[in-house]
Amino acid sequence: MSTLDLVDIGLNLSHDSFDHDCDAVLARAAAAGVTRMLITGSDVPHSRKALQLARLHPQSLRSTAGVHPHHAKDLQRSDHAALRELLAQPEVLAVGECGLDYFRNFSTHEDQERALRLQLELAIEIGKPVFLHERDAHDAFANIVGEYLPRIVGGVAHCFTGTVAQVQRYVELDLYVGVTGWICDERRGQSLREAVRHVPLERLLIETDAPYLIPRDLKPKPPSHRNEPQYLPAVLKRLAVCREESVDAIAAATTANAVRLFRWA
Ligand SMILES: [Zn+2]
Repeated sequence: MSTLDLVDIGLNLSHDSFDHDCDAVLARAAAAGVTRMLITGSDVPHSRKALQLARLHPQSLRSTAGVHPHHAKDLQRSDHAALRELLAQPEVLAVGECGLDYFRNFSTHEDQERALRLQLELAIEIGKPVFLHERDAHDAFANIVGEYLPRIVGGVAHCFTGTVAQVQRYVELDLYVGVTGWICDERRGQSLREAVRHVPLERLLIETDAPYLIPRDLKPKPPSHRNEPQYLPAVLKRLAVCREESVDAIAAATTANAVRLFRWA
């Protein structure tokens, strides 16, 4: 057993690739020192499934409820009530993931903005933090989120992959910054490796975004491309190298940060 006590603040455990072996995935995570995990809700059905999983494993799991920008076009009026009901549950710790994704553009910018504003308003109403997704939309995203954040209890820019200047903007907005296995990629992770040095330790969070973004520097190479929460320590170790801090210091800080932001009781 590991002596680590880590929180994976973002994994898609309701993804169907985990349906057949979810308990084994959780057992491997626990053995690797990943003691708590926050399951990302990406639309209403998956937010419901995430809540069900959290209720099955109250020691280790909590969930979020929201609509990812990819699915913004499908957000119906009837979903507002469903989201509000999910967000009222004690196991649901945050609103999201919500945000803007101008990389894939699976929904129009108008639909994405509408869905984001709706969820930011829900976060104000319900008094829970926001779990935010942004890709290739930094300026528009920071402007919209900045309008609402003073009335929201807190938030995280999850799966941050941007630049030093973008980190500085998020820090000004008082957002937490979530780092995934993207940082373990020696090709596309270069600018991120510099940017993470500018995140204050008390604003840093770690996540796997499993089943996506498996760390590329795992040794030995795992048998499957499916990422799992058990690989979270690879993110931690790479962060320690990039920031020139100890693994223990980052482990303790990121866990304390997650408990504080999400009020994990
Ligand atoms: Zn995301």
